[in-house]
Amino acid sequence: MKTTNFTKLNHLNDPIIHSSWEYATEPFLDFKNPINIEKIKKAFEFVESNLNKEYPIFIDKEYYVDKKILSINPGDTNQVIGIFQDATIELADKAVKYANEKFKTWAKLNVYDRVNIFRLAANILRKRRFEFIAWMVLEVGKNWTEADADVAEAIDYLEYYSNLMIDIHENPKKLLPFPGEVNYYYYLPLGVVVVIPPWNFPLAIPLGMTVAALITGNTVILKPAEDAPMMSYLLYELLIEAGVPEGVINYLPGTGEIVGDYLVKHPDIHMIAFTGSKEVGLLIHKNAANYPGRSHLKRVIAEMGGKNAIIVDEIYDEDFMNYAVNSVIASAFGFQGQKCSALSRLLLHKNIYDKFMNKLLENVSKIEIGLPKENKFLGPVINEQALNKIMNYIEIGKKQNKLVFGGKRYDYKYSGYYIEPTVFEDVKVNDVIAQEEIFGPVLAVMKYSDFDEAISIANSVEYGLTGAVFSQNRFNINKAKNEFYCGNLYINRKCTGAIVGVHPFGGFKFSGTNSKAGGPDYLLFFLNPKSVSEKIDF
Ligand code: NAD
Repeated sequence: MKTTNFTKLNHLNDPIIHSSWEYATEPFLDFKNPINIEKIKKAFEFVESNLNKEYPIFIDKEYYVDKKILSINPGDTNQVIGIFQDATIELADKAVKYANEKFKTWAKLNVYDRVNIFRLAANILRKRRFEFIAWMVLEVGKNWTEADADVAEAIDYLEYYSNLMIDIHENPKKLLPFPGEVNYYYYLPLGVVVVIPPWNFPLAIPLGMTVAALITGNTVILKPAEDAPMMSYLLYELLIEAGVPEGVINYLPGTGEIVGDYLVKHPDIHMIAFTGSKEVGLLIHKNAANYPGRSHLKRVIAEMGGKNAIIVDEIYDEDFMNYAVNSVIASAFGFQGQKCSALSRLLLHKNIYDKFMNKLLENVSKIEIGLPKENKFLGPVINEQALNKIMNYIEIGKKQNKLVFGGKRYDYKYSGYYIEPTVFEDVKVNDVIAQEEIFGPVLAVMKYSDFDEAISIANSVEYGLTGAVFSQNRFNINKAKNEFYCGNLYINRKCTGAIVGVHPFGGFKFSGTNSKAGGPDYLLFFLNPKSVSEKIDF
């Protein structure tokens, strides 16, 4: 009896391409280099001569509607970045139909041809890097370094997912042999994926979700965040330039509660790739599950918020403590604390508490606040609503805890949403600022007596995204590895700055579905495995 087993279909039409190359993360730009300073200044000149333009919706053609979304520079609210359409339900419906139509051909495109589009996109993005950075600095208020890291992450997603797709295609999982049968196991795309990103990584996150969906053979409706439609427009333009056909990607700016909600419930959508707040993520999870008229279960990935902690153990080495202080500042106040991975709870051992706090407050007092275009460390928060929400948490903190730094709106020559870096002491585990995601430059500091207590405090929130431990005690490090319950744990380094392919990213508990963006399993969320068995011995 013959026993043959193949786990891969024989793709006769595949050109002989080889295929993956060594993946290396994109190096960051050095903004001390005068050449780079010159280039970024030129990019700002270019971008500022292109502000305040109007952009359409892109489906089968361009559409303009009556209602508009204005993108405003949060650091200087007199500056309008661009005018965008607020899509109607009718246009959302058209996008779903068109994307389903386009799926029939896109899904069948040879994997290598598909992948090469995204490799080309990486190279186009490298060439336009300074321009993308400048747009981002103005649209969401990142400083140069933060914006550059966002663009570098986007390039990494393009390269990493390209290699990963080739790997899935060329190295299928092994099946067990079975006498008298030929068995296959391969992956099919799902259909139309709605991509719903947040505004805070306005290129890397929408690009990561969109590219994962497209490279696996799905079509996409990209509904940008209301505060960052320009960056999603640039993403759309980039992918079209690289060769993604119109309608395979659709650009549909609109209001989350209206057009986003409609798409989530639409019967002809196959998957929702969401990143954003816990509240919206949970609503999407529910809405995607309960809707009549569908022929399939919708898949949802929902990556949500965090309430991340850093534990600092008893450390007595001066240099190591200084390093920990700098890492805490970068984690808590980088991009104004508006990262899902940002530090918001600092847990200090009682024996080092006073010394650490002295150093911390001294360094916080040196933080420069100002216009992102001038590359100051701390810029504005994203909009007025965010400013009010953060100030409200600060008022609660003032009542329940002890304010030791900041606590006010920053008075500045530009009209923007600036808040001082803010630090509270005497914070107890169940206090409001120790439990809820603030998403701003506010740090709650807590004192603990032994490492078990620290782990228990760290785990006492409904989120489980990132965490870090600074320790020279191997037993405590080991305990944290086993018991600190979060998706991304860092030992002796900051809790922000995950690198694609190096630190696959995603959280536990109400931080999300833990799909691990930039990790080896991510693309499988966008695929349906199929098993085919043929009997050949009767
Ligand atoms: P948000 O939840 O307010 O909005 C996210 C997106 O959801 C936007 O595009 C919005 O238009 C859309 N939306 C809003 N209501 C909707 C609805 N009813 N149906 C469908 N779509 C809807 O979040 P945000 O303010 O843009 O981003 C900040 C949040 O994102 C923070 O909580 C942060 O922690 C989280 N975040 C998480 C990660 C992660 O990887 N876990 C990464 C970045 C940001």
